[in-house]
Amino acid sequence: MILLLFGPPGCGKGTQAAFLAERFHIPAISTGEMFRAECKAGTPLGKTACSSLAKGGLVGDEIVNGIVANRIARADCAGGFLLDGYPRTVPQAHQFSRLLTERGLPAPVVIHLHVADAVLVARLAARRQCSQCMHIYNRLSQPPHVEGRCDIDGAPLVKREDDEESVILDRLRAYRELTGPILDWYGASRVRTVDGSLSPDAVKKAIEQMVRQTSDQDTCVV
Ligand SMILES: [Zn+2]
Repeated sequence: MILLLFGPPGCGKGTQAAFLAERFHIPAISTGEMFRAECKAGTPLGKTACSSLAKGGLVGDEIVNGIVANRIARADCAGGFLLDGYPRTVPQAHQFSRLLTERGLPAPVVIHLHVADAVLVARLAARRQCSQCMHIYNRLSQPPHVEGRCDIDGAPLVKREDDEESVILDRLRAYRELTGPILDWYGASRVRTVDGSLSPDAVKKAIEQMVRQTSDQDTCVV
């Protein structure tokens, strides 16, 4: 079972990735985690990726593909895996597809968590952070006991700069520009869109059902 998870900032992707990993006993691998592990291991790929990141640049497709290929060859991926944050470009999607074919692995289940921009803006704009301990609250879903004060240390809660509406809209635009072509490349027949505006539990159920159906179908076709 190979799952690719796509969704805009604030859609609850992290929660769903952790849930799917537990439910299907597969590792949830984020590109951030992979880069850090590879850097730490000091492999040639890791060194190249580290120096690109340290210079504030993007890591090139070839390096990212190499790191993913190494990671999914590890024993914990034998029963499948979930990737979060990869592929990030159409050429990466091409290369990933070739890699799966070479290794005799099944085509991925592509999960797209869809949440309307207005909902994401409302969610993210309701976030507050403790000015002291950095704990995150949400005025809608996880409010503090006392309005505007941290439960832990009583310090004032502040809105982070990247949760301002204009910044959120920019991030959503950037996400769409990046991800739209990848979803198009996989095509409507492979991309499974899930309504991410439901409660986290309802989203979990919807994704689980969809993954089970899709893997059954794939098995039937083979
Ligand atoms: Zn605090």
